Amino acid sequence: KANGRNRRSFFEPNMEHHVQSKDRLSRELRLALKNDELTLAYQPQSDTSAKRIVSVEALARWTKEDGTVISPAQFIPVAEETGLINELGIWVLNKACAKAHEWPGITVSVNVSPNQFKHPRFVEKVMAILAANNLPPQRLEIEVTESVFAGRNDSVLKALRRLKNLGVKVALDDFGSGYSSLSYLRRFPFDTLKIDRDFVSDMNGNAEAEAILVSIIQLGKALGMTIVAEGIETLEQIRFLQAHDCNRMQGYYISRPLTDTALTAFLDEFHRVGTPGYGTDLSYQ
Ligand code: C2E
Ligand code: MG
Ligand code: MG
Ligand code: MG
Repeated sequence: KANGRNRRSFFEPNMEHHVQSKDRLSRELRLALKNDELTLAYQPQSDTSAKRIVSVEALARWTKEDGTVISPAQFIPVAEETGLINELGIWVLNKACAKAHEWPGITVSVNVSPNQFKHPRFVEKVMAILAANNLPPQRLEIEVTESVFAGRNDSVLKALRRLKNLGVKVALDDFGSGYSSLSYLRRFPFDTLKIDRDFVSDMNGNAEAEAILVSIIQLGKALGMTIVAEGIETLEQIRFLQAHDCNRMQGYYISRPLTDTALTAFLDEFHRVGTPGYGTDLSYQ
């Protein structure tokens, strides 16, 4: 019976529409890259004292000519399926590394898809981009999700190791959102562990969620990693993470992702005022 249902759904108009629009999306994305319709937003990460911004994560944004905003959750998977992710990824790295000079002392994090590591000259490409922008490798952090460990991944691990040896920081993103996260910590010595925001949003007063969060922080620290909590939306969450020695925080409560100009203004304000946002609304965008 299940089989019959599947077969029927294959011809459902809905699905055809879905396939069509994906095809169209990939064509439009190719053009968008060429026509400079993509931009980067930067989301600050503060230390847990909430006094210094230490890092920013570059996040791809796509606004079509007619003003429609397509979220990365939509276009990144399409870019991955069509191979366009290689070109898009290089564009992101170039842009983020070029901008980094405007924010001295701040690390720039860039998300990298598994497919990009399969490209034979990816590491050389990254090093060339750093050199061209005169940016020390230590100022760049690469974020990967545990999906990099799927399938035959020797080449991926080799590329990650080379980048790390060259001084680029490597972060494990969305930690805990997958199925066997713990085993990955033994496969590669990540510099940074980013705890998935689901753990953070679940915690408010929930003893089990809090225990898990605290354990992840301790485990990560025991392994020598810098711990970043994602999706910080409340002051209570900040207090909790401070009490449990988390290293860094990222989330709407600190700041939403900002345009490059807005980030420059934000850094200025944040470092001048000290701890803005304690009890006030921080929506810059
Ligand atoms: P991510 O790398 O885990 O990025 C964090 C996402 O969480 C961002 O969504 C950010 O806007 C959102 N976020 C941050 N703080 C909060 C919060 O307090 N509450 C809530 N509800 N959300 C928060 P965004 O920008 O839509 O990006 C989604 C995903 O798309 C990213 O997840 C990343 O996996 C992917 N992505 C974005 N840009 C790139 C890129 O240049 N290359 C690749 N390969 N993937 C990218
Ligand atoms: Mg990320
Ligand atoms: Mg994440
Ligand atoms: Mg994510």
